Amino acid sequence: MALLSIENLTVEFNTPFGAVYAIRGIDFTLRKGEILGLVGETGCGKSVTGRSIIGLLDDNARITAGRILFEDVDLLRLSDAAMHEVRGNRIAMIFQDPATALNPLFTIGAQIMDVLRAHRPAKRGDLKTDAMSLFADVGLPDPAQMMHVYPHQLSGGQQQRAMIALSLAAEPDVIIADEPTTALDVTIQAQILDLLRVLQRERSISVILITHDLGIVAETCQQVVVLYAGRVAEKGAVEAIFAAPQHPYTRGLLAALPRPGSRGSDLQVIAGAVPSGLERIAGCAFAPRCEYVMEICRGQQPAFSDIKQAHQSACHLHETFADA
Ligand code: SF4
Repeated sequence: MALLSIENLTVEFNTPFGAVYAIRGIDFTLRKGEILGLVGETGCGKSVTGRSIIGLLDDNARITAGRILFEDVDLLRLSDAAMHEVRGNRIAMIFQDPATALNPLFTIGAQIMDVLRAHRPAKRGDLKTDAMSLFADVGLPDPAQMMHVYPHQLSGGQQQRAMIALSLAAEPDVIIADEPTTALDVTIQAQILDLLRVLQRERSISVILITHDLGIVAETCQQVVVLYAGRVAEKGAVEAIFAAPQHPYTRGLLAALPRPGSRGSDLQVIAGAVPSGLERIAGCAFAPRCEYVMEICRGQQPAFSDIKQAHQSACHLHETFADA
């Protein structure tokens, strides 16, 4: 069941150098209780998409087209007050660096009690019990002690767990997790991803997981949307795309993953760089880097084609790749 649908979302930033086209008309759907990976290189528009959904874009950003439907209500048409209700209550966000997202002046306990008080008024004793129960749910040790510690007294992994507890306090339907493990070492990264999977399973929370790491997508997500230069290159079920990637960009990303036994050999790279957001792009945005580029690619933007149900790619050669 569709919970959140992004339709033709288009976002620009006004800068001293001119308009930066960050998102150039993207579409995807998040279903209830699934984890969807939003993947691509830096500058592809992943974080801008997440911030557009929750209404936290910078002042110089402008959404010039599209709709963001949450339970059939267009979030872009809500008043500031109505959007404030959605943010945190229904859709929460976890940021990459919990150290800067948590308030250094207040204990973790005080911060979570504030969120609980705002979203479900109750007696102080009940709030404290709820807060400790959330700390336990996210795997923080000694929840009673946690009520009295400040963010700087926690490790990076514990800070991220505290952030997740804060985001859960209002019992949201959707969590947008923006590179939640980038600042953590691999062991803690695995624990935090495990925690997201448990929350999705046990609380039926839908998650948009923003990452540049396809390995994380393979382990954690059911659906994946591959972004390139503010457009969707390929999207669909994780198994389908990992088994038979169709878009040359997705193939390049997968080929660039380190493989067991490849120690000592050069990693594959996709030559070139993501185009500047200042460029207007008439044809396929990947054309300057694509080994299969044809004349049509430079002048005509490829439309989405179904390869199979639940797997779509935007490439003029989709039929050739699908047949192969
Ligand atoms: Fe390459 Fe053309 Fe496909 Fe773009 S449309 S990915 S340039 S083959």
